[in-house]
Amino acid sequence: MTDHKEVRKREKTWLTKDKRPIVIAGPCSAETREQVIETCVQLNQTNKADIIRAGIWKPRTRPNSFEGIGEEGLPWMQEVKELTGMPVTIEVAKASHVEMALKHEMDILWIGARTTVNPFAVQEIADSLRGVDIPVLVKNPINPDLALWLGSIERLEKVGLKEIGAIHRGFSNLGEKYYRNRPQWQIALEFKRLRDDIPLICDPSHICGRRDILQDVSQKAMDLDFDGLMIESHIDPDNAWSDAAQQITPSEFGRMITEMVLREDYEDDLPIQSNLEYLRQEIDHVDDEILNLISNRMKLVRDVANYKKENNVTILQQRRWNYVLEKAMNQGMQNELSKKFINKLIRVIHDESIDQQEKIMKSKS
Ligand code: PEP
Ligand code: MN
Repeated sequence: MTDHKEVRKREKTWLTKDKRPIVIAGPCSAETREQVIETCVQLNQTNKADIIRAGIWKPRTRPNSFEGIGEEGLPWMQEVKELTGMPVTIEVAKASHVEMALKHEMDILWIGARTTVNPFAVQEIADSLRGVDIPVLVKNPINPDLALWLGSIERLEKVGLKEIGAIHRGFSNLGEKYYRNRPQWQIALEFKRLRDDIPLICDPSHICGRRDILQDVSQKAMDLDFDGLMIESHIDPDNAWSDAAQQITPSEFGRMITEMVLREDYEDDLPIQSNLEYLRQEIDHVDDEILNLISNRMKLVRDVANYKKENNVTILQQRRWNYVLEKAMNQGMQNELSKKFINKLIRVIHDESIDQQEKIMKSKS
């Protein structure tokens, strides 16, 4: 391991304190004093939560929904701290929220997905935190824009905040039925690659929008080596004032975390790494072959394009394309490849073939 990596790993422990996963749990919204206290005391009794969350100001898609209890709920969070000894976190969306959160001694702040999309709002929060020493977690923006997510973090870094984390809560997508917010794991993994010094937490509650797939998505986040989880929990989920369908009781939460399988990355374990290395070399070799074959295919495509150009033939030949797609699907399915994967793969290759042919068609010579 390089020194560089060691330093980065150490920096990241401000949140994880060497414990993985770090688990944040609590109701979507603080509704009443009893609901907040009962939920959080029960969460504390599970021994599976490290940090308590609750929404005090709720950014709702449409007006006339419950928009949060507001400042009145902050003393309830202070009571939770006293009763459980656990740190508490709330969402802030503007400078006045920050001011009230600090006045009521909240331990950690988070910036919600609807705020991360707006650089003005993030800058306002950052400016209000200049010179303050408090950890801040930044949720991904609701649209799948990695730069916007990174940019929000950079705004906080620029005012001197040192303890910054990120929360992956999925991306909104019209027409999506399975997830409330599509995970688009590749974006989170790219975030991790670019900022491996920043702890990354998964919020499966807002990804799923429903209870039945919460455990699966949480497990996947752990298998993708996320540093922690943020889970919404309520003493009476069905009657929650917001996000009722995705909340679980504290005891369901306790069971879910207990049942999760934690695998290690074993990056420093030599025997495991050398066994993996052997298989990885084979994979690298196959990757080389795939790339060589694809470039051979594209060479042939360019020959075809020149011929079509000379003879004034269209790039797309519908019957031919149907044949290519169908043949690949059949072959893929016989070889344990999913229909979805083959479909995507062949279309990407076909798109590139069309682009290459277009270039030749457009060229003057
Ligand atoms: C929340 O955590 O309650 C919340 C509003 O989440 P998001 O910003 O991810 O929609
Ligand atoms: Mn919620």
